[in-house]
Amino acid sequence: MTSTLQITDLPVAGYERVVRGVDPASGLHAIIAVHDTTLGPALGGLRMWPYASEDEALFDVKRLARGMTFKSAVAKTGLGGGKAVILGDPAKVKSEALYLAMGRLVDSLGGKYITAEDVNTSVADLEIIRRATKHVTGLERKDGGSGNPSPYTAYGVFLGVRAALGWVFGDDACKGRKVAIQGVGAVGSALAKRLVEAGATVYGADRNAERLQQLQREIGLVPVPEAEILTMPCDVFAPCALGAVLNDDTIPRLRTPIVAGAANNLLLEPRHGKALADRNVLYAPDYVINAGGIINVSVEFHPGGYDEKVSLTKIERIPQALKELWTIAREERIPPSDAADRLAERILADARGARKDAACGLPPKGQRRG
Ligand code: NAD
Repeated sequence: MTSTLQITDLPVAGYERVVRGVDPASGLHAIIAVHDTTLGPALGGLRMWPYASEDEALFDVKRLARGMTFKSAVAKTGLGGGKAVILGDPAKVKSEALYLAMGRLVDSLGGKYITAEDVNTSVADLEIIRRATKHVTGLERKDGGSGNPSPYTAYGVFLGVRAALGWVFGDDACKGRKVAIQGVGAVGSALAKRLVEAGATVYGADRNAERLQQLQREIGLVPVPEAEILTMPCDVFAPCALGAVLNDDTIPRLRTPIVAGAANNLLLEPRHGKALADRNVLYAPDYVINAGGIINVSVEFHPGGYDEKVSLTKIERIPQALKELWTIAREERIPPSDAADRLAERILADARGARKDAACGLPPKGQRRG
């Protein structure tokens, strides 16, 4: 088929490159945002969503791409941040031609952006994209990829929950602790299993009643109505469904000393990090505790290819990263979410400085005289 893909640059301040791809033949209407490649190529998933307008899609892809830059900076994946969105209803627009056109759009950036699975896209979709570009990650292990990232995200969150218990109670044991999980999907259910194995009592809420019942049978999870999970008394509230659940309405109603979960963009606004701290709730910044998936994917870029052992060793550093942030937060009297943003910004500024120095022929900072 002759390509009808039209690629247009959208100038957006603060972003290295944002492009719109429209392909009338397949119906593709997509945006890729490359936020920052200082630390490496911009990696972030491809989301499909029935956005009401292109402005709405642009807002979302920009926010998500920037979030990926910060997540990868703190997790030291050696990657930058980017994201892609396809505008459309997954039930209506998905087709082979659409994903091939998307692959061509990804390929047009020459490796500056690397795609992966995200909301409403699957490994099968990525396999099609792979036919048009090599800049794809998260394929099946048998195809040389790192596979499903969710179990790795869950492992990182589990370790983060234990670190938070240790920080608040002086003992990181799960035995006897109550954990309330909002959303027991791919990540939430794997987290629930680990917590139950470690001796915690796990409460869960999900729109999918069947999934809840299955976990009740399999691991003894206690089902809780959706409206009650956020306000039930517990030792840890673990949001693993939606973003923006920490806001003016919910924060005063929390009855937990810890919020530590997998969902992205948990704070409705940055100021809600302070609102949590003011109520003495320890917050594990979302993009730090949920970095296990991106860490696992990033290992695909290691010399020699993907190695699970390398991935697990890196994920096991998440508790230390969290403790460092909580220490900064305590010492500087700022919320942990602000401490995480500052750390990410500092890592990026240092890398930009080192790049400039190298371009001017200067040796790295630590090796300079005088
Ligand atoms: P998922 O779609 O498999 O699971 C989400 C679950 O939440 C579903 O079971 C859904 O029914 C449930 N849910 C939706 N609305 C709900 C509500 N109001 N109350 C209770 N349950 C509700 O998604 P996932 O892959 O498990 O990811 C969960 C969250 O973690 C998402 O926010 C995702 O962006 C984030 N995250 C996931 C990964 C990963 O590796 N999968 C990595 C980083 C961040």
